[in-house]
Amino acid sequence: MTELICIGCPRGCHLKVDEENDYAVTGNNCNVGAEYGRNELINPTRTLTTTVRLTNSVHHSLPVKSAHPIPKKDLFKAMEELNGIEVPAPVKCGDVVYRNVADSGVDVIATRDLD
Ligand code: SF4
Repeated sequence: MTELICIGCPRGCHLKVDEENDYAVTGNNCNVGAEYGRNELINPTRTLTTTVRLTNSVHHSLPVKSAHPIPKKDLFKAMEELNGIEVPAPVKCGDVVYRNVADSGVDVIATRDLD
């Protein structure tokens, strides 16, 4: 049995995940917690948020995020890849600035407009 605190909302439900019973989750107040608890033990993922270097602009950095959560184990590799890129302005919110980060199949997108 593994105990976790759900990060799905500020309520912070205390979850128990039973690995010996098909990862059954108790202590959750909604299905978000059940899914979070199960995934956290089987394949934990996170949405990556960071900045990348911006060129052709008075601004020097562009806020970005992964379009979907990526495996937690790949976050460092993803950060290394993004540390090495430059994105030319102008950029629109939602533009794909990097494809298939850390071979996850997930793209990285801009989270604001910058000229
Ligand atoms: S289980 Fe549901 S209600 Fe509880 S913290 Fe997670 S998201 Fe919030």
